[in-house]
Amino acid sequence: MRQGMKDPKVMEEVRKFSEELKIEQAEEFAKVRNLTCLQCKLDGTVPYTKKEVYYNRAELDGHVKEDYHSRKAQLKRAYVIDHGEGKGTCTLGARECASSDDFISHVESAHGEQLAI
Ligand SMILES: [Zn+2]
Ligand SMILES: [Zn+2]
Repeated sequence: MRQGMKDPKVMEEVRKFSEELKIEQAEEFAKVRNLTCLQCKLDGTVPYTKKEVYYNRAELDGHVKEDYHSRKAQLKRAYVIDHGEGKGTCTLGARECASSDDFISHVESAHGEQLAI
């Protein structure tokens, strides 16, 4: 009666089943939101609430490729922390900027080296 267990066909079925189960478990695990973004944690311009966001694997992959961690986006966040969205002065050249977007355009044209990485 136990002979059936050694049947290569049965063994193959068992192997396939356990492999499928492993893949399923790995896929399920990848969906679990248990990852935070290290770049967010290390970036002083990122608000606390954003540092505490939990991602699953695919979401984190997407997030790290977003513009959010570009040099421009980081400089813009730093400007907004210092001046708000509106008027402010460029720290490097004492130029008055009308808004955070204006500041970024100014950095692009006057301090392009700050964006080159
Ligand atoms: Zn991040
Ligand atoms: Zn400037």
